[in-house]
Amino acid sequence: MTDSTIKPPVMILTAGPVQAYPEVLQAMALPRGYDYDPSFQAFYEDCAKKCAKAMRSETPALILQAEPAVAIEAAAASLISKRDTVLNLASGVYGKGFGYWSARYHGGMVEIEVPFNESIDPAAVARAFEENPDISVVSVVHHDTPSGTINPVREIGAIVKQHNALLIVDAVSSFGGMDIHPADCHADIFITGPGKCLGGLPGVTFCAVSAAAWEHMEENPDAPFASILSYTDWRKAWDRNEPFPFTPSMAEIGGLNAAVDLYLQEGPENVWARHDLTARACRAGIKAMGAELWAASEDIASPTTTAVKVPDGVADEELVKACRDRYGVVLSIGRGATLKKLLRIGHMGPTAEPIYAVTAVAALGGAMRTCGVEVDVARGVDAALRAIDAAH
Ligand SMILES: *Cc1c(COP(=O)(O)O)cnc(C)c1O
Repeated sequence: MTDSTIKPPVMILTAGPVQAYPEVLQAMALPRGYDYDPSFQAFYEDCAKKCAKAMRSETPALILQAEPAVAIEAAAASLISKRDTVLNLASGVYGKGFGYWSARYHGGMVEIEVPFNESIDPAAVARAFEENPDISVVSVVHHDTPSGTINPVREIGAIVKQHNALLIVDAVSSFGGMDIHPADCHADIFITGPGKCLGGLPGVTFCAVSAAAWEHMEENPDAPFASILSYTDWRKAWDRNEPFPFTPSMAEIGGLNAAVDLYLQEGPENVWARHDLTARACRAGIKAMGAELWAASEDIASPTTTAVKVPDGVADEELVKACRDRYGVVLSIGRGATLKKLLRIGHMGPTAEPIYAVTAVAALGGAMRTCGVEVDVARGVDAALRAIDAAH
């Protein structure tokens, strides 16, 4: 039973999951009958190939039956063994968190951790390899969403490649919202899903896995099989002539297929451009009204999420409550180590439209003002609009 006294929000501007595109929801409701019917097997194969096309990778995507957090844990379980030394790059909650998963499987770990409003310096990665030539696996989060900051994965990937190590890239909240693909960063396992920038739902993951990563998994005596943490179980599932290891999430595959269709039809460059412009307009508005961005430098602020410092003298919870209660606008708070320190405005999929930046600035500014924070809301709204107009 739903509580009818709680009014649903007017606008969900969170940092994921996001309100899905109507086409995605509709596609999830289409009857697909039976997973072993040739029509579904062909549909699944097409979907895996479409995901690969979107990632600009050659082999059909590996689709996993769970939301990306599980798929990242599964990457640790499947790839990493006691023979591996892992270099874990932690510039945020997800980066730090990977190290805890890795610890169940690795022989040793080196970690580079920076304050969660900064990003990883590629020179530090090069130094880590010099000091620890045994590093065999590196893990990095491209956009650490609870910080709204971007890591330089292209530069990091080039260094990892030079040292013949394998690279895991969590691109869950960046792929589809900005220009990044597995080959761009030499990723051996590149993990993403439909629930963030593609405007789908979070229940499924797709990945690009390199031949070297598959080989490493085959040589891992402890790699799980017949398990939610197994990569190898689903390796051949894309092929219509191969059996599924278990029943695929048919509705989720329908949704994923529709989300990737929308992305390819609109044109990736156009999709990235509206994410970028929305984020730029949002940052301009936040700064102009007198609030502060979380990122140490605007160069590393994500085009898919804007993180804003919680001003002194007010609680994050009060601000998001005022936003929702007064204006019906839902924003995200921090998570883990960034909890209470920042608020987040998502620009993902359907909400990566510049006008939402204006709305977000107005709503957050209004909330700050009613909570006693001195901000110039009109100036913020004007700056956001001007950033949009400057792009035309
Ligand atoms: C959302 C997200 C995930 C996956 O989290 P889920 O709980 O599976 O949705 C992983 N990494 C990053 C960086 C994310 O933003």
